[in-house]
Amino acid sequence: MVEPLPHVRDIPPYVPGKPAVPQPGLTTFKLSSNENPYPPLPGVLATAQQAAEAMNRYPDMGCVALYDALATRLGVGTDELAAGTGSVALIYHLLSAYCGIGDEVVHAWRSFEAYPIAITAAGATGVKVPVTADGRHDLSAMAAAITDRTRAVLLCTPNNPTGPALGHAEVATFVAGVPDDVLVVVDEAYLEFVRMADPVDGLALLRGHPNVVLLRTFSKAYGLAGLRVGYAVATPEVAGALRAVALPFGVSSVAQAAAVASLAHEEDLMARVDALVEERDRLVAGITDAGWTVPEPQGNFVWFDLGERTADLAATFGDAGLAVRPFAGEGLRISVGEPEATDRLVALLRTTPPA
Ligand code: PMP
Repeated sequence: MVEPLPHVRDIPPYVPGKPAVPQPGLTTFKLSSNENPYPPLPGVLATAQQAAEAMNRYPDMGCVALYDALATRLGVGTDELAAGTGSVALIYHLLSAYCGIGDEVVHAWRSFEAYPIAITAAGATGVKVPVTADGRHDLSAMAAAITDRTRAVLLCTPNNPTGPALGHAEVATFVAGVPDDVLVVVDEAYLEFVRMADPVDGLALLRGHPNVVLLRTFSKAYGLAGLRVGYAVATPEVAGALRAVALPFGVSSVAQAAAVASLAHEEDLMARVDALVEERDRLVAGITDAGWTVPEPQGNFVWFDLGERTADLAATFGDAGLAVRPFAGEGLRISVGEPEATDRLVALLRTTPPA
């Protein structure tokens, strides 16, 4: 029998957020995958549809229009960019370019569930550093976890699923202490939702430290989750390595065109992000008013630390037409969505005692 490599058996499953179960007489809401609840902007959709007309052709493997648009938008060189089929692909590309069997990758836990999957798939060993009680990265413990075998550290800001974001000063101090042959990957999937005094300035970190890699996506703030397009910003050397290991033609023509159109419509899209941030604030006010506490959410989701009550509350919300994302025995992550979903969630919390 042909066997996969032994570590393939150890790859944990990815549990995708489920759709809402229809409930008689109720509008349902999917709050389980941190998606953008807004439909595509007409201008973005029209561009994507036009690109789909050439679906008999391969996409531009060099992503020239996308790199040009991003380079202009960010003020970086086109050679400092690498695109992938969602930023999750960039995590795979990074690990396949920089890690192998026996290497260690340090990351916070709980954090994005794709990290242990990608690390294990690369044959490397994940070193999970528990987040603090309020859902924050414990940067001093993460620094202490770096060994001679560490090849990369993954920072997730805001942290999925717990919510808090890292501040620039603490990350700058952390990066300064990391050996320069260890990559510091800053996963900024929810960057656009951050509203705090001293947010991470990823490009400033990259300018000072060539081992820094920024990961960004069009899935969340830009609302293109279904098209799968994300990118890394890094030195030309690192970006080149990421491009070298990427699947040829991985980012479709439709995804490339929609991403470029999204940058052209950024003002409208960021107005929607502002509205979602306001909705997040309204949700947090409702949660607090109902007597519950959540870690400070800086993304488009909130985290309820529920332990053994997780499954029960997921069922309660599900029966009320709200699909949420349970992490068995740990807690629930609930995406910020439509105002009606916020109202229904807060009403349920009011009748449910915390802890
Ligand atoms: N990073 C984090 C922290 C995420 O939560 C996600 C999506 N859930 C991703 C990366 C990947 O997003 P995508 O592949 O859609 O760009």
